[in-house]
Amino acid sequence: MEKNFVEKMKTQLEEEKKVLEKGLRGFAEKNKLPKSDWDTHFPSFHGSNLEEEADEVEEYGNLLPVERTLETRVAEINLALEKIKEGKYGLCEKCGQVVSPERLQTIPETRICDKCKK
Ligand SMILES: [Zn+2]
Repeated sequence: MEKNFVEKMKTQLEEEKKVLEKGLRGFAEKNKLPKSDWDTHFPSFHGSNLEEEADEVEEYGNLLPVERTLETRVAEINLALEKIKEGKYGLCEKCGQVVSPERLQTIPETRICDKCKK
């Protein structure tokens, strides 16, 4: 990996992380709203584990899937930033090959190459 390229990806990752964390803070504030405000938005559940699902709804409301997605992305970005520090950025976790710069530019936090993705 070229140093300049890695630096560029690092900046991109850090920027993205800021945006995502800002989004998450927005959700956290919304979670402080009275519980009743969420009732109308409850998704309909068909599973057997209603109690557990109810707890989750209470905690996250209908934003749960969005929040989870954001959290996962932040975690993946952190991992990518860790790898940059260790000098392992851009290596596929499955085959160990260098991930193409094109792919990294599209998904800077990716952990696997195009071949392994398929
Ligand atoms: Zn691979």
